[in-house]
Amino acid sequence: MPFKCGVCGQIHDNVAMDVAFGMPDPFFRLGRRERDRRGQVSTDLCQFVDAEDRERFFVRGVLLVPVPEANDSFAWGFWAEVSEKDFDTIVDTWDDAKPSKTPIHATIANPIAVFEGVLGLEVDLFTQGAEDRPHMIIRDKSHPLAQQQSRGISIHSVVDILKQLEASGEIKVTE
Ligand SMILES: [Zn+2]
Repeated sequence: MPFKCGVCGQIHDNVAMDVAFGMPDPFFRLGRRERDRRGQVSTDLCQFVDAEDRERFFVRGVLLVPVPEANDSFAWGFWAEVSEKDFDTIVDTWDDAKPSKTPIHATIANPIAVFEGVLGLEVDLFTQGAEDRPHMIIRDKSHPLAQQQSRGISIHSVVDILKQLEASGEIKVTE
């Protein structure tokens, strides 16, 4: 649906409403050979043994930022690092019908060019059962991304974010 922007007056058409990250940043940074040797990644789960011989566990989730004028949300497809115990719980309850009301402590495992300090940001993770990937709520409400999450953003801001991400070359913007 074409959208005449209230900020810049241009038509923003076919705006991507989600971005995805192929793997957690600490895993990506190992390089291909070490990744193959130290761990594994699927579309939803990742685990590996880091250089300090520590086992690390990650789940891919979604951080939703409301876009009220589009009646939609922009979805950051971040990976989140969790404890081994929580990782096992997530795997065990993967096909449960009900979303969980109990938050799991996690940290975001991808940096983004748009905001400082997103890598390592603490979140509450809520599993969504078979419906969706786990949702993330940022704990530190003063972080700019947390403020966007609670207040929402305009379509114009989404377009702006996508431009910054593409310019950074760190991620591919999905359709
Ligand atoms: Zn605009």
